[in-house]
Amino acid sequence: AYWPASGEVRVENLSARYSADGPKVLKNVSFTIKSGERIGVVGRTGSGKSSLTLSLLRCILTEGNVYYDSLETSKINLDALRSSITIIPQVPELLSGTLRQNLDPFDQYDDALLNGALRAAGLFSLQEQSDEDGGKLSLDSAISSGGSNLSVGQRQILALARAIVRGSKLLILDEATSAIDYKTDSIIQSSLRNELKGDVTLITVAHRLQTIMDADKIMVLDAGEVLEFDSPKAL
Ligand code: ATP
Ligand code: MG
Repeated sequence: AYWPASGEVRVENLSARYSADGPKVLKNVSFTIKSGERIGVVGRTGSGKSSLTLSLLRCILTEGNVYYDSLETSKINLDALRSSITIIPQVPELLSGTLRQNLDPFDQYDDALLNGALRAAGLFSLQEQSDEDGGKLSLDSAISSGGSNLSVGQRQILALARAIVRGSKLLILDEATSAIDYKTDSIIQSSLRNELKGDVTLITVAHRLQTIMDADKIMVLDAGEVLEFDSPKAL
């Protein structure tokens, strides 16, 4: 639970594919992200942004090395890896059950802490904070299979609350595209700015340039390769 101690990420010659005989969707990518840095990832559709986020957790087939805090990920138990790092996918899938069960699957935290995380993540600042039946969202709200009774934006905010509860040192956000409205997007961005502590490393796949204007560095992906990786000013 105490790993990783910091959020440094070092990637060396990382290639990835979705099946053994499929094409490489990432091609020999190398970069280092320092602990606490805020990184924006951009690139046209199909350039490999989501594939990169999946590769960092070894959810697809990879070659090359990924180090967290100088620990090589292939030497880390996958469960430990995936519980120490939070990835918020473009369309989060939730478990059927209650909102509380999704936020705290092992029933470890009290309501005050969980509600605090939901507030911090911005769930209650959404105007449309109700579920499909019009009820106000609360820890006891029912979640249907996959999370289909919540909007994609609400699901991302819930996943963000989960990251806050877990105290993840590395957070990877793959922003929803057309499915998310500007208001939800800005709630998520301000939650990230206000709630994440300075030592949390944040990788945001962004579709609006405005989202990542204050990033420390911006990575431009093109056809599975890193085209640029520099401060927004230098680009
Ligand atoms: P977007 O901006 O649309 O989210 P992206 O930059 O995230 O695009 P990826 O989803 O990483 O792009 O796709 C990179 C390549 O991998 C594309 O050629 C895509 O077709 C392929 N790909 C993505 N998901 C799969 C999958 N589940 N199986 C096989 N190929 C996939
Ligand atoms: Mg994507």
